Amino acid sequence: MGFIKDFLSIFQKRELIFIESRKESEDAYTFSFEKGPDLSWKAGQYGLFSITHKTMKNATKPFSISSVPSENVVNITTRIGDNPSEFKKAMLELKPGMHMKMSGPVGSFHLDPESPSLLIAAGIGMTPFRSILKQTAAGKGELKPIQLLYLDSKKSYLFKDELDAIASHPSIQVSYLDSRTDLDLEIDKFIAQHKGRGKYLVAGPKSMVESVAAYLQSKDVSKQNIKKDAFFGY
Ligand SMILES: Cc1cc2nc3c(=O)[nH]c(=O)nc-3n(C[C@H](O)[C@H](O)[C@H](O)COP(=O)(O)OP(=O)(O)OC[C@H]3O[C@@H](n4cnc5c(N)ncnc54)[C@H](O)[C@@H]3O)c2cc1C
Repeated sequence: MGFIKDFLSIFQKRELIFIESRKESEDAYTFSFEKGPDLSWKAGQYGLFSITHKTMKNATKPFSISSVPSENVVNITTRIGDNPSEFKKAMLELKPGMHMKMSGPVGSFHLDPESPSLLIAAGIGMTPFRSILKQTAAGKGELKPIQLLYLDSKKSYLFKDELDAIASHPSIQVSYLDSRTDLDLEIDKFIAQHKGRGKYLVAGPKSMVESVAAYLQSKDVSKQNIKKDAFFGY
């Protein structure tokens, strides 16, 4: 079902009107676009975003939507370093009122509300979790335990103030980590506490996501309980 919905959604291209961008950290920016009344998404989904104001190779890239529909904006958050690609240069040129195109939303990177969940974000992989946690924390009713392990070797944690506020929710715990050793230790603790009942969501650069998924499987976490959002291009 999800596959068919994604298949249909990917053909739905819409123009998004750029509102503003802001710096989230030394090399990360959030770009905000107007959300039309007919657009919605499930927290954790992504869109295919296209540059339209100039011609270039690879004018379309996937980005997680880091906002929730109730914020009434479509936000994407991305790293732009000292040597940006043509795509990222074009993003920095956006002025209010200019357009990008978006196909989607697509993807099934969602929380399972019936299970304790471990969310593992590596660096820029925090983007889908911002919307997942914001939406979940705002919901009513009891939650199964949710723990976010946010790994960034440079300790440049995106959305930190918001995450600290979200962590006051009695069922949501947030841990900021800067080493893989600490990440593995925290993973081990969660596995020991929740045994086979836990669900695992991992997002970030592809190599990191694959490595964490392999670690989980080496600890007897079944493949079906691991969801991956692997960002290629990092
Ligand atoms: C499901 C999914 C969700 C994703 N969500 C996000 C997200 O939320 N945020 C996010 O940031 N990314 C996300 N990505 C990854 C994203 O689509 C891009 O691949 C990523 O941002 C890298 O884009 P880029 O244009 O910098 O990379 P590339 O074009 O692959 O370039 C990689 C690097 O090469 C160098 N380079 C490339 N071209 C030039 C040039 N002309 N001059 C100088 N240097 C150059 C730059 O250093 C650049 O950073 C996601 C991917 C997937 C699959």
